[in-house]
Amino acid sequence: MIDFELSPEIERTRQMIHMAAENAMRPIAREYDEREHEKPWDFLNMMWNVSRSSAVSFGGGDKEKKAGPSTRFMTTTVAIEELSWGDAGLYLAIPNAGLGGAAVAAAGTPEQRQRFLARFTEGEPKWAAMAITEPGCGSDSAAITATAVRDGDNWVLNGEKIFVTSGLMAAEKSDGFVVVWATVDKSAGRAGIKAFVVEKGTPGMTVTKVEHKHGIRASDTATIVFEDCRVPFDNILGSPEVPKTTEGFKGVMATFDATRPAVAASAIGIGRAALEFVREALDKAGIKIRYGVAPKKLTTLERDFMDMEANLQAARLLTWRASWMMDEGLRNSLEASMSKAKAGLAVTKVTQKAVELLGPLGYSRKYLLEKWMRDGKINDIFEGTQQINMLIIARRILDYSSKELS
Ligand SMILES: Cc1cc2nc3c(=O)[nH]c(=O)nc-3n(C[C@H](O)[C@H](O)[C@H](O)COP(=O)(O)OP(=O)(O)OC[C@H]3O[C@@H](n4cnc5c(N)ncnc54)[C@H](O)[C@@H]3O)c2cc1C
Repeated sequence: MIDFELSPEIERTRQMIHMAAENAMRPIAREYDEREHEKPWDFLNMMWNVSRSSAVSFGGGDKEKKAGPSTRFMTTTVAIEELSWGDAGLYLAIPNAGLGGAAVAAAGTPEQRQRFLARFTEGEPKWAAMAITEPGCGSDSAAITATAVRDGDNWVLNGEKIFVTSGLMAAEKSDGFVVVWATVDKSAGRAGIKAFVVEKGTPGMTVTKVEHKHGIRASDTATIVFEDCRVPFDNILGSPEVPKTTEGFKGVMATFDATRPAVAASAIGIGRAALEFVREALDKAGIKIRYGVAPKKLTTLERDFMDMEANLQAARLLTWRASWMMDEGLRNSLEASMSKAKAGLAVTKVTQKAVELLGPLGYSRKYLLEKWMRDGKINDIFEGTQQINMLIIARRILDYSSKELS
């Protein structure tokens, strides 16, 4: 049976998060866009208390992996859409296991999941981050140059990672950690790439820069340098062996199966905020969108509006499907990329069109619409750009390897 309704439990969570988004996020959204790098501690502490005591894991990281179907991912997806409707920058700043936690959940052993993730249900607010991107490598993760060399009971990490979301909070300002992708054998290509957990404050790990950004300015994005940074041997996620195939790398890549639907949900939340703003502005001007009218009788504005609505709806259905598959324990790499590609493009188009339709109202800093246009774009860049996700989709549908279709 196909059911597109949210369960009463998820709907209750959605309503609760929506109230928080409306009452605690919207009122401070502009302020923390302008006061980049400052932290809204009252809001962050409140969300930490909500997140650690509920089924929701705001960053897409699964706090604990349970056997059998659950509704954790669907709940999280729905919550992220609401939070991003409130403010995407603030949502990304919420203390949680985030991308780092998603990597541990996807590639770690049960012991590692317990060791690294249990902290997100207790004590003071904490963050975890994931560091893949380097000055010379973004989309092509096989080009990673950061190294991990075994030395007795340690791994010694060297390299520079850029654009690490929540990097500052995870590496220095809380009892969190950073998951670092590095190669243990450059000659093995992708098969040699492994993920390592580096605990906050580990000597040799230094935050050297926090970015000034176009959008999502409430979220910190850091450069982190690793210089002879020693981590315990068992902080390597999964097996330390370098396999003959890229199977090991696929394990690390599985992180994206969880995080791409989360990014897609965030995109949809921002797009929805923009669409609602346009509808309200049109309402005030006495313009109603006429549904059910023959296409040839629609105005251009009505066509544009319906197109925006349809794109967001389609993106949401793909996102829910990818999240539902995670909950069912089904492999969803294709669907996760589909949701991310669709939603990333949808939010870019929807927010730009919204600004275009409303003119000065959309461009003025008096309202949040111009901000949503800036915030939305990141969803088409991180966790695999639009082009990279389209490439992944094509490879999977056509059954081509990354060598055959690059
Ligand atoms: C605000 C922000 C937060 C981020 N957070 C994180 C984080 O937490 N952790 C992390 O590791 N990284 C993070 N990133 C980095 C992000 O994931 C990368 O920017 C992204 O993967 C693209 O890599 P790149 O910038 O090196 O671009 P490139 O890989 O150099 O790509 C440049 C352009 O070429 C296109 N392109 C590349 N290869 C192909 C191809 N084969 N076919 C067609 N087109 C192609 C891309 O789509 C893009 O349009 C963040 C970035 C930003 C801006």
